[in-house]
Amino acid sequence: MAEEKKQPRIGVFVCHCGTNIAGSIDVKAVQEYARTLPGVIVADDYQYMCSTPGQTKIDNAIKENDLTGVVVAACSPRLHEPTFRTATKEGGLNPFRFEMANIREQDAWVHMHDNAGATAKAKDAIRIAVAKAALLEDLYPKSVPVEHAAMVVGAGVGGIQAALDLANAGIKTYLIDKLPTVGGRMSQLDKTFPTLDCSQCILTPKMVDVGRHPNIDLRTYTEVEAVEGYIGNFDITLRKKARGVLTPTEATEKGIVGGGCNGCGDCDAVCPVIKPNPFELGMKPRKAIYIYHPQVTPLIYTVDFDSCIKCGLCVEACGEKKAIDLDMADAFETVKVGTVILATGYDIFPIEKKREWGYKQFDNVITSLEFERLICASGPTGGHLIRPSDGQTPKKVAFVLCAGSRDNTGVGKPYCSRFCCMYSLKHAHQMMEKIPGCQPYIFYMDIRSFGKQYEEFYYRIQDEGAKFIRGRVANILEDAKTKDLHVYAEDTLLGQPVDLTVDLVVLAAAIEPTQGIDPVRKMFGVSCSQDGWMLEAHPKLNPCGTTTAGVFLAGVCQGPKDIPDTVAQAEGAASAASIPIHMGKVELEPYFAQCIEEKCAGCGMCVNLCPYSALALVEKDGKQVMQVTEAKCKGCGTCGGFCPGGAIYMQHFTTPQIVAQIDAFLLGGEE
Ligand code: FAD
Ligand code: SF4
Ligand code: SF4
Ligand code: SF4
Ligand code: SF4
Ligand code: SF4
Ligand code: SF4
Repeated sequence: MAEEKKQPRIGVFVCHCGTNIAGSIDVKAVQEYARTLPGVIVADDYQYMCSTPGQTKIDNAIKENDLTGVVVAACSPRLHEPTFRTATKEGGLNPFRFEMANIREQDAWVHMHDNAGATAKAKDAIRIAVAKAALLEDLYPKSVPVEHAAMVVGAGVGGIQAALDLANAGIKTYLIDKLPTVGGRMSQLDKTFPTLDCSQCILTPKMVDVGRHPNIDLRTYTEVEAVEGYIGNFDITLRKKARGVLTPTEATEKGIVGGGCNGCGDCDAVCPVIKPNPFELGMKPRKAIYIYHPQVTPLIYTVDFDSCIKCGLCVEACGEKKAIDLDMADAFETVKVGTVILATGYDIFPIEKKREWGYKQFDNVITSLEFERLICASGPTGGHLIRPSDGQTPKKVAFVLCAGSRDNTGVGKPYCSRFCCMYSLKHAHQMMEKIPGCQPYIFYMDIRSFGKQYEEFYYRIQDEGAKFIRGRVANILEDAKTKDLHVYAEDTLLGQPVDLTVDLVVLAAAIEPTQGIDPVRKMFGVSCSQDGWMLEAHPKLNPCGTTTAGVFLAGVCQGPKDIPDTVAQAEGAASAASIPIHMGKVELEPYFAQCIEEKCAGCGMCVNLCPYSALALVEKDGKQVMQVTEAKCKGCGTCGGFCPGGAIYMQHFTTPQIVAQIDAFLLGGEE
């Protein structure tokens, strides 16, 4: 027998949030108004509803008044919906009999100079929430098992650390990188601030570890092709790009005994095609068959099929190892994982767009990443810093900070790229260390040396003799004869114009999200913030999570950060991603679409509309009806809004609930 439906008995709790809400909204008036609303049995207010006493108020009120629903008027549900669901449950109600009215972010904070208006809006928000709360039903999360495996996309230092942590926690981990090696940008660096450790010395052992770890399935030269599923059960299709070279394992699988690439380099020596080397930023050549850099992991050559002329000389040179297959095609494989970490890093902003600084117009204007390669012993010049125009050693070098960052002109990036102050100080030090008598000039707006031992590093570089000029560089011009550069700026501390002649200019170019990352991000249902960086679930309370359950972020893909912060976030992401896997099951919020089969005409239109492939037509009692795979449904409502027959019922967002909210808004005002 169906349970008799109780008359709604609702409790409303209005939060002051200190003065965050109470500073703009008359909380007492709002609370008294709430008491007059239909179905409201109790209305209360408290300084901090999310505190223990605040939650206890809810718990007690439910028990003392036999409530059927709870409304909390406070901050955004993104912050505390789970908190108040728990409090509702503690009181003995189903946790989904809870509704939140956002009177802080959407009211008090945006109407802080209009107290009467903000108070009236709070009353509207509460009236609407109460109308819905009166119609809330018990809902039950769906429990799904979690695959005991994880994937990390992007194998820079962030992805490497996350993969090692997951693997060390006993979780099978797929580590994916689109390049033929792991390592990311850190492989391109010479030394790292503030300790000046050699970048490769710190990174290479970790690169080797991921290559050898029994729990890590390393897939380089591989990209994500498609993503299906949900937390606990992601089916991810990988595109293994045609590398043209077999690993020893692949060779064995093909029956080539003792074959496969051993990294001998004989093919490289004979290949006639020469192209610019992207790892060396075009400052060194490479062949059409190559290794990405000398420390690659895994040590396997790769054919660049865009430039290979298929002459076959490499095949001949490889001989009995039979490692080269010039007809190799991309291969696809779908793997199942429980959770995913995105660690896809960044690219350098194309600073030539800021034409006033002459990059790509004047030979002796270079970027900081080019500086890293030039000063690095394994770089294109063997560690000799040179002027590109004539190969001479520069004696006067200008470092231009905030090049394209903190730029509101519409051409550059409005944000601070966060590590360029520090690496420019490092570059000044490296120069002074390597070139006796040289003089670095640092043009800066502010020096942001915020990390541990960073300010001390700044003082050290000052003491070593670097000259600091506070002012944004207006433009740079070249002396056509000498190829020297004139740097024009205003020294804002002295209030004087500056015209400085230097041998070399190094632009600390802004960074931006990795090129082509948007389709990947979207496949995982991850949003981005206005500036393009991937969006965390909450900047303070959930900085590694995303709004897609089971997908986490590590490193610069979430926003500019240096190596220590990247590694710290990667460890956080690995920990978060391992929790559902160790729990073995997760609960999905029950905001699923449901089919009212009597109303369904079996037209199938909703099936094609669902962005998550959660719907299918099935045969039932001789007719076609729509069926929902609840675990795949994200409750987006697309199908519910579309169905011509009104056959789709959205749990927690039912048509009667929404109509009641609209009525409450339109009809129920106080005045
Ligand atoms: P990345 O290093 O960018 O790695 C991302 C990885 O993801 C790459 O391997 C990339 O190939 C891969 N990837 C991207 N897209 C995909 C995809 N779709 N599918 C699969 N794989 C993908 N920091 C310091 O702390 N100290 C320093 O001294 C220092 N010096 C620097 C000097 C310069 C000139 C620059 C530019 C930066 C410097 N940094 C320094 C910052 C440092 O480079 C970053 O903090 C660090 O590299 C961030 O690591 P990451 O793993 O987040 O990203
Ligand atoms: Fe502030 Fe939200 Fe806590 Fe209230 S519940 S005190 S609005 S954070
Ligand atoms: Fe690898 Fe063959 Fe080239 Fe040697 S010659 S590096 S084994 S592909
Ligand atoms: Fe180079 Fe391609 Fe010729 Fe091999 S086949 S030697 S990779 S051009
Ligand atoms: Fe400018 Fe320094 Fe921020 Fe880089 S880190 S954008 S150089 S303030
Ligand atoms: Fe068509 Fe609606 Fe049935 Fe979907 S639920 S098949 S849209 S009638
Ligand atoms: Fe698909 Fe409908 Fe669920 Fe949206 S609400 S995910 S369209 S089934």
